[in-house]
Amino acid sequence: MTRLIEDAAEAAALLRAGELVAFATETVYGLGADARNGKAVAGIFEAKGRPHFNPLICHFPDAESAWAEVHPDERARALASAFWPGPLTLVLPRRADSRVDLLTGAGLDTLAVRVPSHPAARELLRLAGIPVAAPSANQSGRVSPTTSAHVMEELSGRIAAVLEGGDCEVGVESTVLDLSGTEAVLLRPGGVPQEAIEAVIGPVGRPASPEAGGALRSPGMMLSHYAPALPVRLEATVVAPDEALLAFGAPLEGAGAVFQLSAAQDLREAAARLFQGLRALDGSGLRGIAVMPVPGGGLGPAIRDRLDRAAAPRDA
Ligand code: AMP
Ligand code: MG
Repeated sequence: MTRLIEDAAEAAALLRAGELVAFATETVYGLGADARNGKAVAGIFEAKGRPHFNPLICHFPDAESAWAEVHPDERARALASAFWPGPLTLVLPRRADSRVDLLTGAGLDTLAVRVPSHPAARELLRLAGIPVAAPSANQSGRVSPTTSAHVMEELSGRIAAVLEGGDCEVGVESTVLDLSGTEAVLLRPGGVPQEAIEAVIGPVGRPASPEAGGALRSPGMMLSHYAPALPVRLEATVVAPDEALLAFGAPLEGAGAVFQLSAAQDLREAAARLFQGLRALDGSGLRGIAVMPVPGGGLGPAIRDRLDRAAAPRDA
């Protein structure tokens, strides 16, 4: 049963306990989870029925708490002074000691951070005192909700609660600006116009498309796609001593290294440990990564999508 609640302190306690809570922002309703808790974040993808893991935006009550998780540069500080709280998301290098779970950032070295202006969101974030990961609170492939009734239609029975916050004002999503490289790049147009950003930090570029011959930000890697350097082999039923094994259930015998996604074959646990596992095995110094079969239900397709991408041949 999903409850509609009015008390921000109650919503904050639910988030801290690893539950999913939808809340209003000035853009659209977000589906929030404790960004430090991989299982809670896996629950977001499960509730939305998203067939893939994409990086989620982390929400904070103020800039100082955001800077605890990412490295701001001068541009980020200037934009935060100008537009926070507000509908601007900044992608910045994550701190080595960030508490945010790897699943939240889809395994990337960057993290998207934002300070929303909606009073209900601010109160919730302040009371929760944790980074809150939140995509829009709709089922995958459907429009973003701007009222608590929309959220109920979308997610009732799949999340713990909706914090009543009235109707959203902006109704479009936040502007996403990538500041992780030397050139600022507009990844998604949104509530803060490009011209307003350029008035503060100067010219902003558009993402380079490989089709147009543009260079990708990091070679061999899509902007929002983490992949290990070692070759990845799927559906493994045997494993060699010079291979690392990503196990799901009782591990195959004979691997040079093993990372267990979930001994109990729990898909939510496996999702929460996926990027950690790929990273750990990528550093094993072995010949490649063999991956045991992962079934198709629930979060299975999202896990398999990411493994397929990790196993796909790379051109750069
Ligand atoms: P949503 O959560 O649905 O509002 O969408 C979040 C947007 O931010 C998507 O367009 C993501 O691709 C983008 N995003 C989030 N984190 C990152 C990141 N670390 N690098 C690049 N884009 C990001
Ligand atoms: Mg969305």
